[in-house]
Amino acid sequence: MANKWVYLFSEGNANMRELLGGKGANLAEMTGLGLPVPQGFTITTEACTQYYEDGREINDEIQGQINEYIVKMEEITGKKFGDKENPLLVSVRSGARASMPGMMDTILNLGLNETVVEAIAAKSGNARWAWDCYRRFIQMYSDVVMEVGKKYFEELIDKMKADRGVQQDVELTADDLKELAAQFKAEYKEKIGEDFPDDPKEQLMGAIKAVFRSWDNPRANVYRRDNDIPYSWGTAVNVQSMAFGNMGDDCGTGVAFTRDPATGEKHLMGEFLKNAQGEDVVAGVRTPMPIAQMEQEFPEAFEEFVKVCKTLEDHYRDMQDMEFTVENRKLYMLQTRNGKRTAQAALKIACDLVDEGMRTEEEAVAMIDPRNLDTLLHPQFDAAALKAATPVAKALGASPGAACGKIVFTAEDAETWNARGEKVVLVRLETSPEDITGMKASQGILTVRGGMTSHAAVVARGMGTCCVSGCGDIVMDEANKKFTLAGKEYHEGDFISIDGSTGNIYDGIIPTVDATIAGEFGRIMGWADKFRTLKVRTNADTPADAKKARELGAEGIGLCRTEHMFFEEDRIAAFREMICSDTVEEREEALEKILPYQQGDFEALYEALEGCPVTIRFLDPPLHEFVPTEEDDIKKLADAQGKSVEEIKGIIQGLHEFNPMMGHRGLRLAVTYPEIAKMQTKAVIRAAINVQKKHSDWTVKPEIMIPLSCDSKELKYVKDIVVATADAEIAAAGVELEYQVGTMIEIPRAALTADEIAKQADFFCFGTNDLTQMTYGFSRDDAGKFLDAYYDAKIFENDPFAKLDQVGVGKLMEMAIKLGKPVNPNLHVGICGEHGGDPSSVEFCHKIGLDYVSCSPFRVPIARLAAAQAAI
Ligand code: PEP
Ligand code: MG
Repeated sequence: MANKWVYLFSEGNANMRELLGGKGANLAEMTGLGLPVPQGFTITTEACTQYYEDGREINDEIQGQINEYIVKMEEITGKKFGDKENPLLVSVRSGARASMPGMMDTILNLGLNETVVEAIAAKSGNARWAWDCYRRFIQMYSDVVMEVGKKYFEELIDKMKADRGVQQDVELTADDLKELAAQFKAEYKEKIGEDFPDDPKEQLMGAIKAVFRSWDNPRANVYRRDNDIPYSWGTAVNVQSMAFGNMGDDCGTGVAFTRDPATGEKHLMGEFLKNAQGEDVVAGVRTPMPIAQMEQEFPEAFEEFVKVCKTLEDHYRDMQDMEFTVENRKLYMLQTRNGKRTAQAALKIACDLVDEGMRTEEEAVAMIDPRNLDTLLHPQFDAAALKAATPVAKALGASPGAACGKIVFTAEDAETWNARGEKVVLVRLETSPEDITGMKASQGILTVRGGMTSHAAVVARGMGTCCVSGCGDIVMDEANKKFTLAGKEYHEGDFISIDGSTGNIYDGIIPTVDATIAGEFGRIMGWADKFRTLKVRTNADTPADAKKARELGAEGIGLCRTEHMFFEEDRIAAFREMICSDTVEEREEALEKILPYQQGDFEALYEALEGCPVTIRFLDPPLHEFVPTEEDDIKKLADAQGKSVEEIKGIIQGLHEFNPMMGHRGLRLAVTYPEIAKMQTKAVIRAAINVQKKHSDWTVKPEIMIPLSCDSKELKYVKDIVVATADAEIAAAGVELEYQVGTMIEIPRAALTADEIAKQADFFCFGTNDLTQMTYGFSRDDAGKFLDAYYDAKIFENDPFAKLDQVGVGKLMEMAIKLGKPVNPNLHVGICGEHGGDPSSVEFCHKIGLDYVSCSPFRVPIARLAAAQAAI
């Protein structure tokens, strides 16, 4: 049987989102619920995949089914493509499985040509509307389908407005718009070399192709990578009969949320724009009215809309984000989806839904996107500084958080300035999808136009970047990179501070401080902790980091990189002496100086962790990173060691390695210089003994972690040194102290021989940074230079250093566990590479039976939530 590529809205339902995309599945579901949905059909995501398989062509079978469904749609609506009496006009919109707002393309008013325009003008008695639709269609079709830049058409509109002496598009007359349509078509012919297509079916096939093609546009590719959406999913295409919001003052179009997407408060939120179509609201070109105002002007449609909102919320048991149109006072639903929301709102809504009896605790935990939590942990303004400051203006708090930075006016400048280490606030009339990378590079975004649902607001919320939108008080002069606000002229590079929660704008610098989390966050985290089985530790090298991580719920330290404890001025001197020693005696002398630093640090870490496990990883520095390069420092070192500058330079030269990442680091250092391992062992054990003495109610049980092993004999060699030293320390102190010695699995050979290695280790911890580097053979420091080409060529969808490669690296991990556990049933296993804080990697770690993940302090809550979701 032939594949079914097309579904009427009445043939689908909400469970078919893989096939119909989110929008298509929800249009079908709304149809099933009997809501007022203009009818149409959905071309499946499989058809999109097929389009790419067929070399970016829609094959005959799919085209045939589309044509069949046009006929069905004509029967359902009683309208006909190209008909003079009752023409069918449609919208063509993308709709992937996961919503990707603003990333792909939409075409409205398809089906128009000169004949049809005249017909609908006559029938409606509204020539202005008819020609407005046509000029919009030519513009959109040219831009989206034929890729003729929008700007040519915008220039023509601006010229027309200037000629007519008017400010707003709505002030143009029917004749003006008719004339514009003619100019647009001429522009099209000039750019494309052909007449603008008149045949609605030809238009439709072109539009469908364009939507399929837009799945692969650069901004969609970036969005997918950021949001973990696989390329292989493809997008569906929805062809829907048009409802017109631009037919006059008894029409309009709106976007609304059933709860506040910024705070989560339970009240209807949204905007409505009279006599307008689709993108006008989101584009922020005109400022819409708040949804509540619709009640006065469109009472029947508003009343029905409120009912629909309730129906949809009760049905989906989640906050809905809806698009609708009012045509001649009648309501039409164009879309509903679970609304994107800020992290705060997500937590509040999830808790409220539990309190309202709509969701279980498990469901509430599963509803929160762990990556979103990041934004809660972002800076806020220092409270005292904020109190002392007076806002110079207030606009919409579109995405929470606080930002302070230098003003830039273009997305490119935001990127360049950020790359050279400057903090910037991007100030724009409005943003468009092309600005995404610049928005990402900014601390905050401030726009002159647009509401809560404008592009800037929606995208900033998604990225967790602070945004204040719709500040109409700004008099913008983009060309000269300046604006005026509250009587002051601001230039590029001036400081500005914005508060994305209140919408306040401040002149100059207001310092920011770290966020503190409480309330609903604690409730959700409490539930998450109840459901998860995977423990969450932190990677912390300083007591301050460790304390922060404890506050955020870390249950131990999974990685303390001891070489990071030597970056301070006075410490690095002793460390350099150790590296540049050329006899054991010299080295031991330098190590004696280092020991007290290490012991002190370890004591502080044990204190911060209050008896929770602390894993201390023995030195793993690429040595060349620590040697002095400045003449002054070299001289200082020479003096300290009683050597000549030349001698020191000779030693430094001797340390040079062609491939330091695969060089003299990790436990190789302990093999060549056992005295280093001895010193570190003494520091660990002495610190533990001291802290244990102070806190008899804690169990201080150090975990010594030997990095980068590749062979069991190699590990045994170092372990024997550690054990002998530790036991001697414990005996000398006359105390009892338990400790463990484990290793990092970072080299494929360690994973492959894990059964042997496990005989020598109390625990394994996967160092997936190195394990990824060595499994792929990609330098972790340089891969960034070529990975972009891999994304562009669709070889990779993600950076394997950020998201664990489950297929290759993951297989090694599974193998190591399977080989290691039978040999050593008490072996406990964790991960401490960067992947330990990435939600999908955490899920994988749960699945393969790890005991814990360890990640940087601010990612601890993300890992806790991801671990709970993996267990639910
Ligand atoms: C690792 O390799 O994953 C790891 C945690 O160690 P480092 O990043 O210090 O090499
Ligand atoms: Mg490593």
